Amino acid sequence: MQRIIIVSNRLPVTIKENKEEYTIQASAGGLATGLKSFHKNGNSTWIGWSGIISNDKKEQNKISNLLEKENCSPIFLDKNLIKKYYDGYSNGTLWPLFHYFTEFTEFKNSYWESYYEVNKIFTETIISQAQKNDTVWIHDYQLMLVPNMLREKRPDLKIGFFLHIPFPSYEVFRILPKRNDIIKGLLGCDLIGFHTYDYARHFISSVKRLLGYDVEFNTISTESRKVYVDVFPMGIDYKKFNDTSLKVSHKSVRERSEIQQQIDKFFMQDPERKLMLSIDRLDYTKGIPQRLKAFRFFIKNHPEYKEKVSLIMLTVPSRVDVEQYQNLKKEVDELVGQINGEFGTISWNPIIYFYRSLPFDNLIELYSSSDIALLTPLRDGMNLVAKEFIASKINKKGVLILSEMAGASKELGQATTVNPYSLRSVSNAIVKALNMDEQKQEEDIITMQDRISRYDVFRWANDFVSALNIIAKKQEEHLAGKINDVTKQELIANYKKSSKSILFLDYDGTLQRFFKVPQNAKPDEELLDLLKKLNEPENTEIVIISGRDKQTLGDWLGNQGYTLIAEHGAWIKPRNENWIEKAHSNTDWKKNIKPILESYVDRTPGSLIEDKTHSLTWHYRKADIELGNLRARELRTDVANLIANQKLEILEGSKVIEIKVSGINKGYAALEYLKNNSYDFILAIGDDWTDEYTFKELPNDSITIKVGTDKSHAKYYINDYIQVRELLKNLTL
Ligand code: UDP
Repeated sequence: MQRIIIVSNRLPVTIKENKEEYTIQASAGGLATGLKSFHKNGNSTWIGWSGIISNDKKEQNKISNLLEKENCSPIFLDKNLIKKYYDGYSNGTLWPLFHYFTEFTEFKNSYWESYYEVNKIFTETIISQAQKNDTVWIHDYQLMLVPNMLREKRPDLKIGFFLHIPFPSYEVFRILPKRNDIIKGLLGCDLIGFHTYDYARHFISSVKRLLGYDVEFNTISTESRKVYVDVFPMGIDYKKFNDTSLKVSHKSVRERSEIQQQIDKFFMQDPERKLMLSIDRLDYTKGIPQRLKAFRFFIKNHPEYKEKVSLIMLTVPSRVDVEQYQNLKKEVDELVGQINGEFGTISWNPIIYFYRSLPFDNLIELYSSSDIALLTPLRDGMNLVAKEFIASKINKKGVLILSEMAGASKELGQATTVNPYSLRSVSNAIVKALNMDEQKQEEDIITMQDRISRYDVFRWANDFVSALNIIAKKQEEHLAGKINDVTKQELIANYKKSSKSILFLDYDGTLQRFFKVPQNAKPDEELLDLLKKLNEPENTEIVIISGRDKQTLGDWLGNQGYTLIAEHGAWIKPRNENWIEKAHSNTDWKKNIKPILESYVDRTPGSLIEDKTHSLTWHYRKADIELGNLRARELRTDVANLIANQKLEILEGSKVIEIKVSGINKGYAALEYLKNNSYDFILAIGDDWTDEYTFKELPNDSITIKVGTDKSHAKYYINDYIQVRELLKNLTL
């Protein structure tokens, strides 16, 4: 049975203390419910903060022992850490920023330091518990550094992460001073899950822009691994809501709760009355003041609904120590007072306001008795209340008014969606909902129930874990092709015992890192020294095989005893000889192609043209990554039409499009070179598409190594130019 370690800020249980005795109450939250089937099988652990602030080891042991029976492993944090990590960085920096409340976002170094420290504590606890090849599923914004901290120490683990809040657009995310650390933290995962496609898209865009990684569909290629991003909209325990609603509806008058009796009284006064419901934590992201203002706008503009409609508003206390939340509470209290004062009558309160949480059965009573749910968050990762309202509608009557800023609006297509900032839009939606005929209500509720009953919280959790398993298999296959210590030793031994060796080494991305401006990639001292040492043995030949022009390659590496192949093989400079031109063609074609490339340079800031003897190259590494990719696609199509029937071809390198004379490539060049000599050790290393020709053409017993993670004909993979240098250094020892 698969072992899973679930990690979240809080454990799925609440610890109650009474005179130094502790009891444990299981939480009924969505996450705990969804993961029940994984967690209850005794083969998994849940790691999280206990909720108890204590430095007393005896007390901590007592709590740990109690929690062990629940397969929970507590983390203990002191008051100062909690204040800075939880109230500070998590809820004072990340929460507002990720919900687009930039004006509330606080950037304090001490917050970040505590966030880092707590993420480290979580990582160490995971490491102490994780067995080889375990699956670790980390949850939410409080723990975004854990995946990479964990990956560095335990590459064997399958690591998944789910973000339960929105991921903001790059333009907002970039504000965060530690943006790169957060992204790198998450990229330690195998799989990262989001509620909606928009959040996934925003994340991918930030990864591309901040770290420059290539992304194909939902797969990010980092130097060393692939990271998968996907969408898993979290569901609810549909059956529990539906069943409880049925149970509550069968209660006799005497058995009915106080809340239900009050609701009954409300309808008894006038059976035509309608009840609207909103439920949320008292959080500024939920748009409660805006909702109240919209309701006031509605009553003012539609006096015919006075005494006919009330809004029952349940707000659950949240983060009560934080100033913004205290101010919000004051604002909401005042607004409710004003509206009730202005419009209320002796027998009618426009707003019925609760500031507390309610037991589950009472919640269901509210859901099933209300005609309309008015859920208008300004931003909300998902909004489970919307799904719970629909699930509780056993009579299929009811209308859901839902903010388009809530993740749930992407799934619940039959809801009446509103822009929560527009008072008129919300007011119009209320009027529409009040007048919706029952048949339409029924049709919509059935469609939405169908969706959320199928994709419930159990499916959600299962889907995520299954996807993580599939990905882990793919990662294993990739890992099998990686240069490891054994293959490295073998390679070195074969090299040492060979009588004649040749090393085909690509330059950019292989021996040297990429620079935004290609001319800045000049070899550094370390590289020059390494190549020199590598070239010392008489029986070793080095061939630098590059797409670069002969001038640059010659200036950088000429006359040092290496063979240089430039422009993908159009020019060759055998060691200690002069350049020989291998391609014989006229270059008239450039006259037609260059103006096209120039127009692309004009329209793509940061891009540039390189004019080589037998090719024209458009570089776009310095351009905006998305615009660059888009233009590259356009350019390919434009040029392909133009060069049809000419002896030209388009080559695509790393952030480069090259139009060149056909019949020349690194593969032919390498083969041609080998023709005149025989070698018993052939090594080729390269990073991009153009090196695939080399890998394909070389004899079968050659050792071919691809830098990066993209699909390749090479036998082995290596992470980056740093590892390439390390490997080559080993050959010189
Ligand atoms: N809820 C609760 N007790 C209450 C009111 C609400 O347990 O008195 C629950 C509600 O059933 C829902 C959750 O709180 O499952 C709120 O989740 P949602 O996604 O709507 O918002 P969040 O609070 O996670 O931002």
